[in-house]
Amino acid sequence: MLQTEAPVIRAPRGSVLSCRGWQQEAALRMLMNNLDPEVAERPEELVVYGGTGKAARNWEAFHAIVRALRSLADDETLLIQSGRPVGILRTHEAAPRVLLANANLVGRWSDWEHFHELERKGLMMYGQMTAGSWIYIGSQGIVQGTYETFAEAGRRHFGGSLAGRLIVSGGMGGMGGAQPLAATMNGACFLGIDVDAERIRKRLASGYCDHIAFTLDEALKILEAARAGGAAISVGLVANAADALPELIRRNIVPDVLTDQTSAHDPLNGYVPNGMSLAEALCLREEHPDEYTRRSMAAMGRHVEAMLALQQRGAVTFDYGNNLRTQAKIAGVARAYDIPGFVPEYIRPLFCEGKGPFRWVALSGDPEDIYRTDRLALELFPEDAGLRRWIGLAQKRIHFQGLPARICWLGYGQRAKFGMAMNELVRRGEISAPVVIGRDHLDAGSVASPYRETEAMPDGSDAVADWPLLNALVNTAAGASWVSIHNGGGVGIGYSQHAGMVVVADGTDLAAQRLERVLTTDPGTGVLRHVDAGCAEAIAFAEANGIRIPMREA
Ligand code: NAD
Repeated sequence: MLQTEAPVIRAPRGSVLSCRGWQQEAALRMLMNNLDPEVAERPEELVVYGGTGKAARNWEAFHAIVRALRSLADDETLLIQSGRPVGILRTHEAAPRVLLANANLVGRWSDWEHFHELERKGLMMYGQMTAGSWIYIGSQGIVQGTYETFAEAGRRHFGGSLAGRLIVSGGMGGMGGAQPLAATMNGACFLGIDVDAERIRKRLASGYCDHIAFTLDEALKILEAARAGGAAISVGLVANAADALPELIRRNIVPDVLTDQTSAHDPLNGYVPNGMSLAEALCLREEHPDEYTRRSMAAMGRHVEAMLALQQRGAVTFDYGNNLRTQAKIAGVARAYDIPGFVPEYIRPLFCEGKGPFRWVALSGDPEDIYRTDRLALELFPEDAGLRRWIGLAQKRIHFQGLPARICWLGYGQRAKFGMAMNELVRRGEISAPVVIGRDHLDAGSVASPYRETEAMPDGSDAVADWPLLNALVNTAAGASWVSIHNGGGVGIGYSQHAGMVVVADGTDLAAQRLERVLTTDPGTGVLRHVDAGCAEAIAFAEANGIRIPMREA
């Protein structure tokens, strides 16, 4: 009989295989790790993070994937269509063991309406970014990016330091939950507004957030005391952002930095409308989805109006990749895009060098393996002061969730060097089991997302979706362990096309070849994409690093 109940999932640890090889075992452990209760937001529904971002379509599909991975041979490839295993085909040993496609729809049909219809029929699943591509690592996955974004805002607007400053944001979910820690790591105080007390409690338990408050008065009291004493602390306020921000305006409290990470990309199953309790909202969502969506869109309009008003009063305000501005624009807020996006504002120069959230996971489950790789990173890049500071902070402040993992922004050249060196550590037994190496889809070359990664490209190519497809193709050709193509991550169905890749360092010669190729092709497409768009930093970087670009060769 097929098991369809929700079991508690946790990846196996140690160096004993349950599959026929480490490439398959890695995929199995990472799928399971995505659903570990320490890692996933709602594992019983297979939801990992980001509204309804799932790891498998349903429990029946999950168990079928597990069975398929356990029997998969070293020359076979498993195909996953929106979280459901649909076939196993003979390929070859250096080919990916798994290829995944999540939530892709033909352009004209690519909206939430069609998606939800197909989802209701059991034909599709929303894969978000790293949920359906099996490389989510909990809130740590975004901590460094958020930390660097806040730090850059500090350099740009506050003379290099956020000490004593107040950052305000909405959303303390899977990704948003990284904000309080990223803020206090920068020396700032943080007020996070989330409508769901349970989400805030989860951040208290993981050490990412310091306090929970149930009224704005209570939250402000804690924050004022901390600021007076020069302390950097974070408070999660249980409230609706569309109510709490207008209240800040009424009291003339202007944050130094203002952003948002509520699940605005999904007006039905993500964002929660204001003017009602969470329980009432959940009932409305169930019983009257159209009315819920209408109220949710109106609330996002009110939310952005308040952000614009605070921006006008001096708050450094930016959109943090959840498509809130677009929803507000649809709801009638004409000036919604006066709020800049965080990528053109702070991140694009890094993308020009293929830099982005590179990450790795110790399949052994042993934190010592990650500490060994931390030392390796410092040995390999001694000149990188930012990396040294980050590794030090991460070791002190990041609690591992599920399998121990690390994130570090590295670029073209650095990634291949580091991946190959990790493979050597595995080969020499200095790490007790293989290491999985991947990245977020918040990335230089693997994303087309006009309100996020590719907003305001210099040549106007924001909506060109050829790049992520080329990225997936070349990473497949180069021999990644698994490769995925997705629609809608971060900003919602129809608003983005993106690709993921994971490659396993199992200490073998074949892994060394695959790592060198994939960890070059993958950030390489990031550099190419930005050269093609005419970014001067990318052109200079490509020339300095001998990256071949036919249109620039005489
Ligand atoms: P999540 O679904 O785990 O959490 C969203 C949180 O928002 C929940 O805790 C929910 O209770 C809260 N919320 C919803 N409506 C609210 C409201 N009106 N007021 C206050 N709280 C409200 O999602 P996540 O993984 O944290 O991602 C958040 C958003 O950021 C998503 O839209 C996601 O696509 C996007 N995202 C951005 C990045 C980035 O790099 N900037 C990366 C990943 C995801």
